[in-house]
Amino acid sequence: MSVDPKKLTKEVAKRRTFAIISHPDAGKTTMTEKLLLWGQAIQVVGEVKGRKTDRHATSDWMSMEQERGISITTSVMQFPYKDHMVNLLDTPGHADFSEDTYRTLTAVDSALMMVDGAKGVEERTIKLMEVCRMRDTPIISFVNKLDRQIREPLELLSEIEAVLKIKCVPVTWPIGMGQDFVGVYHLAENKTYLYEKGNGGKMTVSETREGYDYPDIRERLGQLMFDAFEESLELVQMALEEFDVEAFLAGEMTPVLFGTALGNFGVNMVLDTLVKYAPPPKAHPTTERKVSATETDFTGFVFKIQANMDPRHRDRIAFLRVCSGKYEKGMKMKHVRLGKDVRIADALTFLAGDREALEEAYPGDIIGLHNHGTISIGDSFTEGEELSFTGIPHFAPELFRRVVLKDPLKSKALQKGLQQLSEEGATQVFMPQINNDLVLGAVGVLQFEVVAHRLKEEYKVQCTFEPVSIATVRWIHCDDDVALAKFKKKAHDQLSIDGGGYLTYLAPSRVNLQLMQDRYPEITFSSTREH
Ligand code: GDP
Repeated sequence: MSVDPKKLTKEVAKRRTFAIISHPDAGKTTMTEKLLLWGQAIQVVGEVKGRKTDRHATSDWMSMEQERGISITTSVMQFPYKDHMVNLLDTPGHADFSEDTYRTLTAVDSALMMVDGAKGVEERTIKLMEVCRMRDTPIISFVNKLDRQIREPLELLSEIEAVLKIKCVPVTWPIGMGQDFVGVYHLAENKTYLYEKGNGGKMTVSETREGYDYPDIRERLGQLMFDAFEESLELVQMALEEFDVEAFLAGEMTPVLFGTALGNFGVNMVLDTLVKYAPPPKAHPTTERKVSATETDFTGFVFKIQANMDPRHRDRIAFLRVCSGKYEKGMKMKHVRLGKDVRIADALTFLAGDREALEEAYPGDIIGLHNHGTISIGDSFTEGEELSFTGIPHFAPELFRRVVLKDPLKSKALQKGLQQLSEEGATQVFMPQINNDLVLGAVGVLQFEVVAHRLKEEYKVQCTFEPVSIATVRWIHCDDDVALAKFKKKAHDQLSIDGGGYLTYLAPSRVNLQLMQDRYPEITFSSTREH
């Protein structure tokens, strides 16, 4: 393709593609809004108030996007920041938590971890960090809600280090909290950034001062709190390891910032840290070789498929991460799995507010392809080369249901529907060897509802789901045929074939799984399966 290598190198260096990982309520939506504000993707942000009843800020975004003439949901948001181009990939965080969240993390180069300062490390964050760890994704951390009473910052850092096994290096250190939140002290700059209430909806550059010891700051904190701040700062400075970019890039060390997303304080520091330290688009492994982002031929892989919001259109959007080269409107691409060339004239791109730029995309960017059933998760697209990207995993589901068909004559349609839905990644299907059951596996409970709904709407199949006593699933590998045969005989009643034709073990309990692993050391029980 006609892409100038110099221009490509420049565009790659400008790109930062990341996602936010956090536990529900830590402030991801609020942070997203403020990041977009700084990216000038939106001009005004309404203070987010009393949204407890209206959990789905997504809908706000959608109407906002429609007003601006951008037709797609919030899955991907692209905006410029200080000579860089930032791609923020949304990961569903609430009830709609699913495997999509996990797979989206395979399409980013770094992640922002948000921790609610009052709550510390929570369960969803632990899980998401595990996924990031699989690819050594660099993590920037943000301790949120400093405008409230939070836990001792030192204690929070120890908890992050202990639970998430990542070394913390504070970039800033909070001065006070709650009513007495004064601001943050920037350790490397030796500067204090003062927090001012009521700026949540504005882009305000904070007042800064050299050092931190000022009469008015002492006064605002009171002597006790000022002493406590100085003491904790001294401890931090003593213990502080130098920030090591290599360790950060390896996912072993995280820079930590403090602030309040709601108050829009510290958000620009997150962006500054992102453009300064987070990596530009990385090389991606394929079955053949590693593909570097600066290669001029276009390549990319599909990490997510989203059903069209509009029920009148049956097509779905396949989200493709560009890995190398350049997407240009109307270009011809090879759909590697099908061995077919396709001309793509109507890919969606996501630069908020700038319709001029809808013509091209560079590595790190995401484009949306209209999918009429021919694209699956994990599919690779190239400019002719035979290569398939690896590392887009299936994760062992944690929730299982047996499918009960209302009309037995519809079993063919059910099979077809489930086959397609599993190819899309909407659910996973397992066929136990001892009976003719169909068992669905999911990571989030909403996945079952989505599947039931779509089976009914798209395949005219009505079914219900019943509980089934499976705790988890593992993919089975073993190079030793004799050992495998022995295991298969013994474990027969718990074995199944998944939607991709792979042998799996359906464990009735964690204890049972542990026992089997101990008993059959030559068998690999894998909790992920790559496409
Ligand atoms: P999400 O579930 O992670 O997307 O969290 P939201 O952004 O929806 O925030 C959850 C709640 O915390 C909302 O009521 C927000 O207004 C509130 N919130 C978010 N950031 C802050 C903050 O910095 N300070 C305070 N006091 N509240 C916040």
